[in-house]
This record gives sequence, C-alpha cells and structure tokens, in this order.
Amino acid sequence: MTRTRHPVASTPTTTSTTPEPAARAGGRVIERVAERSRAIVDPAAEVIARGAPRAAVFVGLGANLGDARATIAAAIDELRELALADASTGMSSFVASSLWRSAPVDAAGPDFLNAVARFETALSPHDLLDALQAIEQRFGRERPYRNAPRTLDLDLLLFGVADNDGGVRHIDDRLELPHPRAAQRAFVLEPLAELWPDGEIPGAGRLADLLARARLDVAQRVELVAS
Ligand code: AMP
Repeated sequence: MTRTRHPVASTPTTTSTTPEPAARAGGRVIERVAERSRAIVDPAAEVIARGAPRAAVFVGLGANLGDARATIAAAIDELRELALADASTGMSSFVASSLWRSAPVDAAGPDFLNAVARFETALSPHDLLDALQAIEQRFGRERPYRNAPRTLDLDLLLFGVADNDGGVRHIDDRLELPHPRAAQRAFVLEPLAELWPDGEIPGAGRLADLLARARLDVAQRVELVAS
C-alpha cells in the first residue's frame, strides 16, 4: 500500500490578466496565462488526491458474526493504533461512540453491533480505505455475496470534517464520500450523533433531522447496548 503524506497544496492562486513585460509578445502571453491556470488548485480535489496533514474522519463499525462485541472492541483498538501510527505529531484525538445493537438492514444473519469512531489522519481517503479493508481482512471478513453476514464491516463515513461541516464529497469506482448509505441508516446516525450532534452531512442535511427521520422508520430497530 502506498501512503501519501504530502500536505495539502497551498492557497489557490489566481490568474492575472496583466502579462508581465517579458511575456507581452504574441503567443508567450497565452502560454504564461495557461501555465498559471494549471496552478489553480481545487482544495477538495487536493484532499481527495493527497489527504491533509490532519483530516478528521468518521468511521462506522459493524459486526454480526462470532463474538461481535469483542470484534468491535478489538477493531476500535486497531483504529486507535492506526490513528496514532499515522499522526505526524505523535498526537491524535481518538474517540469512539457507545455500542449500539441494530436489526440487519439489507443484510442477513443475527442482530448487528455498531459503533462510530472519530480520529485524525494524514492518509488520503483511498489509502485510509485500504487500511480499513486490511483491518477487515485481519478479522477474517469474507465477501461470499453482497450484504452477507460479516465478521467486521468498516465504512469510511466522512472525510475532512471541520466543526459541523461533514467534509468532502466525492465519487469514484472504489470510494463514495459521504458514505452513500450513512444518511439513511439509524445504526450509523445514532452513534454519529453521540459524537457530532450538530453535524451536517454534505448533500443530505443536518444530522438531527436525518436522525429524526430514521427513528420514524419502524424497520430500523436500533438500541443502546453500552456507553
Ligand atoms: P461493503 O461490502 O458494504 O462494506 O462495501 C464495500 C465496498 O464499498 C468496497 O468495494 C468499497 O470500495 C466500496 N465503498 C465505496 N465507498 C465506500 C466508503 N465510503 N466506505 C467503505 N467502502 C466504500
């Protein structure tokens, strides 16, 4: 796995319409302007490509096979180690929610146990997804078919969170941010609201509103297990 640790590129540069004396003649003006246009930086695209020195992220955890409680506890330890190993300063705030129990939604098997963790990382979103999938593999997750019962499921919910702003929006073949199902799932929203009650999920709305809606959905049974 390649880890990218470059800092986010500097403040966006603007293109000047006034050519410098050396470039006033003919095509050189156009060349110089084109050069500068290439230097314009889209900060969100930079965060997707390279991450940020300290991007705050939320990761959702779920398990419904074996000793799910022990699995979630051990996975939280692994995420804490990942955050610490990755912290450029050796310091990273790490916080995990309470444990919640939920009825399977679009999934088979017994009830799930769920939690959410928040920490900071210098990894890019894709490198963090690699790291999360490596942890899933260590817990023996198999994917025999879509939505099969799972020893451990780790979802990257939000990346680049700042205060109540839920960070970057992005879609490609491997990764969608915010996580595509986070805004509808009570088993994500309940633990997320513990850690981030005034948050807003980009493109979806305020967490409090999303949670109120999800709580009305009788198919989504979610209860607090332990804080
Ligand atoms: P699942 O089996 O539900 O855990 O889905 C895993 C698949 O979802 C993997 O192929 C991931 O590449 C993809 N995926 C897309 N966006 C995300 C995300 N935000 N977090 C985790 N997996 C994601």
